[in-house]
Amino acid sequence: MKLPTVIAIDGPAASGKSTLGERLAKHLHFLYFDTGLMYRAVTWCALMNGIAIDDELQVSDLAERIQIDVQAPTVDDGRINDVFLNGRDISWEVRQPEVDANVSQVSTYVRVRTAMTIQQRRIGERGNVVMVGRDIGTVVMPDAGLKIYLTASVMERARRRYEETRARGQPANLEQIMRSMKRRDAIDSSRMIAPLKPAPDAIVIDSDDYSIDEVVMLAIDYYRNTCNNSEC
Ligand code: C5P
Repeated sequence: MKLPTVIAIDGPAASGKSTLGERLAKHLHFLYFDTGLMYRAVTWCALMNGIAIDDELQVSDLAERIQIDVQAPTVDDGRINDVFLNGRDISWEVRQPEVDANVSQVSTYVRVRTAMTIQQRRIGERGNVVMVGRDIGTVVMPDAGLKIYLTASVMERARRRYEETRARGQPANLEQIMRSMKRRDAIDSSRMIAPLKPAPDAIVIDSDDYSIDEVVMLAIDYYRNTCNNSEC
C-alpha cells in the first residue's frame, strides 16, 4: 500500500488545524504549509500600500504582482512557517489584528484566489506536504490522499485564540475575538468561490470532543489506514 503524500487539513479559524498540521508534518517528516499565510501576506501588503480593501481591482493587481514565499521556519521564535514578501520577512506582521479583520474579504476575490491557488498547487504537487487552509481538499488539492476537516464550536475556538493571544503577552478581549471569528466564518463559508466546507471524502473531526494529542493520534491512525484509489 502506498501512503498519501499530500495531506489536506481544512477548517475554520482556531479549530486546531495549525497545531495538528505542524505535528503531523513533524511526525511524517513532511513540509508543513499554512496556505492562509498567503492570503494574509496579500492583505498586509494592501494595507501597507494604502489600498482600500474593498477595491477588488487594485487588491487583485497587487496579488498578481507580488512574490510570496511560505517555507519551513528558519528562525526559532515560535513561528511555524517563514513568510517572505518580495524577499522581506513578514512572518509576524501577517498576524496583526488588522490583517485578521480584513483577510476574509481579500480572500473572496477571484483573481486573488486564482493567483494563490496556482502557487499552492506548485508546492503541493511536489508531495510530502501537509497543507492547511479552507479549500485544500475541495479545490487546491482535490486528489490529496488524506483529507481532514477539523472543526470546533465558535466558543471553544474563541477561547483558544484568547488564551494564545494572552500567552504572547498581548491584550485580548474574548467577546471581540468571538465577534471577529463569527464574521470571518460567515464570509469564508458563504463566498461564491471555494467556500469553507468539508470535501465529500474528508474525515470530519470535532476537536471540542478531543484533546490536541488525541486529534493528532486520530489523524495518524487515519493516515496509516487511508488508501486513496488515486494513490494506491
Ligand atoms: O488560516 P488563517 O486564519 O490564517 O487564514 C486566514 C484567512 O485566509 C481565512 O479566514 C480565509 O479567509 C483565507 N483562506 C482561504 N483559503 C485558504 C486559507 C485561508 O480563503 N486555503
